[in-house]
Amino acid sequence: MNDVSRLTSSVYSQALEVIASVEPRIAEATRAELADQRSSLKLIASENYASPAVLMTMGTWFSDKYAEGTVGHRFYAGCQNVDTVESLAAEHARELFGAEYAYVQPHSGIDANLVAFWSILAHRVEGPWLERAEKKNVNELTEEDWEALRKELGNQRLLGMSLDAGGHLTHGFRPNISGKMFHQQQYGTDPATGLLDYDAVAAKAREFKPLVLVAGYSAYPRRVDFAKMREIADEVGATLMVDMAHFAGLVAGKVFTGDEDPVPHAHIVTTTTHKSLRGPRGGMVLATEEYAPSVDRGCPMVLGGPLSHVMAAKAVAFAEARQESFRTYAQQVADNAQSLAQGFLSRGAKLVTGGTDNHLVLLDVSAYGLTGRQAESALLDAGVVTNRNSVPSDPNGAWYTSGVRLGTSALTTRGFGHDEFDTVADLIVHVLENTQPGTTKAGGPSKASYVLGDGVADKVRAASAEMLDKHPLYPGLELS
Ligand SMILES: *Cc1c(COP(=O)(O)O)cnc(C)c1O
Repeated sequence: MNDVSRLTSSVYSQALEVIASVEPRIAEATRAELADQRSSLKLIASENYASPAVLMTMGTWFSDKYAEGTVGHRFYAGCQNVDTVESLAAEHARELFGAEYAYVQPHSGIDANLVAFWSILAHRVEGPWLERAEKKNVNELTEEDWEALRKELGNQRLLGMSLDAGGHLTHGFRPNISGKMFHQQQYGTDPATGLLDYDAVAAKAREFKPLVLVAGYSAYPRRVDFAKMREIADEVGATLMVDMAHFAGLVAGKVFTGDEDPVPHAHIVTTTTHKSLRGPRGGMVLATEEYAPSVDRGCPMVLGGPLSHVMAAKAVAFAEARQESFRTYAQQVADNAQSLAQGFLSRGAKLVTGGTDNHLVLLDVSAYGLTGRQAESALLDAGVVTNRNSVPSDPNGAWYTSGVRLGTSALTTRGFGHDEFDTVADLIVHVLENTQPGTTKAGGPSKASYVLGDGVADKVRAASAEMLDKHPLYPGLELS
């Protein structure tokens, strides 16, 4: 056991004692969560395991500090240490991604997108409107002016990727605020190949003339050509916003470079910090100098006080991601996704787009006569944690779905490589081949219930345990 794991063991053991002295059930749940994460195959594409340094940074008194405003310009006294933390996080982010500006306050990916949307509206709509009206700021507006400006702000268009093609709720999905605050249209993927069709996106953009073109995804297993997306945006006068929430780790780790790196091509890039980037739960906005002043108004525009403890943890995580070892990690995430995809294909499974070239695969489980929901539940019984996901034009809709999304970010952190991911594919196929759809009370086919073959879960758990023991989560961390 090295020094760090010895310290980590004693820090967490003692912290849990302190917590237990107030609410023992929370200490118990925290222990149970570690045990569960250690003993299951975590394949949820949006999850990872942050380092003890990142986790510990979140558990400090920075949590108690209010710091609305920006570095050096706060609406509260006593923010000198928060200023240090926020400056460092932003500096690491700029260096890591080669960005002109970084705003590290958003509390989550959704918050980062809200900041981006309102920044674009402020920069492209409100600013020019005030200039035309010869007003310095919104405080100078009469009620009539205000009504007119609000109408204009509420009358803008957004074009994003549809949910069932792999886009995110915040990319113009009607039930999300992005689909209500904008007139929205969506682009999908080619029905024959499942791939993005840039000509089709361009045609839609020419017709719809969006103010905002959103690129990025949560469930598309391929790389995107952001240079092409920028060309499309420029042609129609749109702002290109790239949401790299899922694949920021592959950008940071220089797996996506050139046209596949969104930062040099987009006006605004948003991300989470906890997915492939392996930081604390949180969000971030990267922007060009042009958009920086409006992005900086995220608080008070759509955010309250920043989570200073999480900004501190972002700084630690970005410092980790700037190390050479993170590049090795990111490349291994992508290589492992290849191994997983090949493992499925060689066993006759069907993948959306026929494979992957990022960190995730989308397995079409209809070939096994199952819905995504049945597959997800049967896999969970066997200790394989995934999430069901729509496939393009999904006949089972967004609740039951026909797919299961699998990502390699988390298990790669544990040290899984090619052989382990080939075994993972084998175990998943074994579960799905031995799962039958159940029947409804009325005797018809059920989309939810299922029957898992005898002994299948035990066999898969035993095979997983062997791999998981070989690649422990937080090696050396032992709770007393
Ligand atoms: C996960 C995700 C988000 C939302 O992140 P939260 O931190 O859960 O709010 C936004 N956009 C995309 C593309 C995502 O994958």
